[in-house]
Amino acid sequence: MSKKTKAEQNLVAGVGTRVVWAGEQVQHPYNATQTPIVLSAAYGYHDIDQWYDVALGKEPGFIYSRMSNPTVSVLEDKLCELERAESAVAFSTGMAAISGVLHTFLSCGQRVVSTRDSYGGTNKIFEEFLPRMGVDVTLCDTHDTEAIEYQIAKGCDVVYLETPTNPTLKILDIRRLVAAARRVGALVVADNTFATPLNQNPLALGVDVVVHSATKFLSGHGDVLGGVVCGAEHLMSQVRHYREINGASLDPFSAYLIIRGIKTLALRLRQQQASAQVIAEYLCSEPLVESVNYPGLPQHPGHVIARSQMQGFGAIISFVLVGGMETVTRLLPLLNYAHRAGNLGAVETIYGPARTTSHVENTLEERQALGISEGLVRVSVGIEETVDLLADLQQAFALVSNRQGNTTTHTECLTALKAVD
Ligand SMILES: *Cc1c(COP(=O)(O)O)cnc(C)c1O
Repeated sequence: MSKKTKAEQNLVAGVGTRVVWAGEQVQHPYNATQTPIVLSAAYGYHDIDQWYDVALGKEPGFIYSRMSNPTVSVLEDKLCELERAESAVAFSTGMAAISGVLHTFLSCGQRVVSTRDSYGGTNKIFEEFLPRMGVDVTLCDTHDTEAIEYQIAKGCDVVYLETPTNPTLKILDIRRLVAAARRVGALVVADNTFATPLNQNPLALGVDVVVHSATKFLSGHGDVLGGVVCGAEHLMSQVRHYREINGASLDPFSAYLIIRGIKTLALRLRQQQASAQVIAEYLCSEPLVESVNYPGLPQHPGHVIARSQMQGFGAIISFVLVGGMETVTRLLPLLNYAHRAGNLGAVETIYGPARTTSHVENTLEERQALGISEGLVRVSVGIEETVDLLADLQQAFALVSNRQGNTTTHTECLTALKAVD
């Protein structure tokens, strides 16, 4: 039996192994074990013929870092292996990746079908920029699969999906919508930021192009912005060409931080989603909470579909507080282990209302039209101990509701946790 190549070996390795090694089994200069940060705008050649060959793509190599950079290439290779894609293209932010993809594949007179619940910035592209370019945009009710299928069947060029959605954690049936898109020959794009490549691989479900905001779980430490697009090479070559000219390339230092973050993605996410399940269940029992959105809850409307297309339910929960914005304003400052910030997917737990996080780009009227309540809070569960996060939330709720016996101890929490198990 012949020895497997490293890439072949990686295909059978567990995900915790792949996040560490994927894309990095290459010989670095000076035998460095870590991917070097190559801070060079351009790459010089003594041999002019060789320079031409590299420029024409006949020989591997680098010309100018807006086009490609050795550090950024390692990140792209890593994402390729994790999403089991043929090719990947990194961008300076998640939004640059999303707008890059939409501008690559849509032209004046074409039509895109999506849902009303995509990320606020994506929604702005749909509502503001694409119509200005003469692209026909139809946004459907995210819950109404038949309506989405109906709109796709009328004919379109791109179907854009985001699941789970930000911040209401709605679940779209990827296989079913891919089948509808196939019937009209539309390209399917999916934003996989919330799920990460560990919990969901849209390409394996028939999606053509996957986008990620690397700012979130991939980098995992809330200290860098980035975006990545993955898919077949004939599609990625078009996306790469657009990025080369549009110029929203990722800088090598950011690429390095994202590569470093990805190595611990499996460890982080295991802890984060185990805590998320416990916290979501606790929130369901809290009288000050009107409703809880977490796909891991059996009563969640997308639970069965989530089970069929995801390997885990993720680390984002959202919930609506009784009393709206007033309760939000009182509760959030009482939390000890929480950033109150507009980010998610970091090692620290982060709380934020939609109006200053996912939908900061939208007006009150727009949020209302999207069905986003002012009492909606999004939680990005961090890697802290589950018991501490639970106790923190319980003490904050006790203070807000002036409940007696609001001093839940660590031991009491541990007991409560065992009961949940
Ligand atoms: C944050 C986010 C984006 C945008 O990414 P940036 O890196 O902030 O530009 C897109 N989609 C989803 C689902 C996100 O959470």
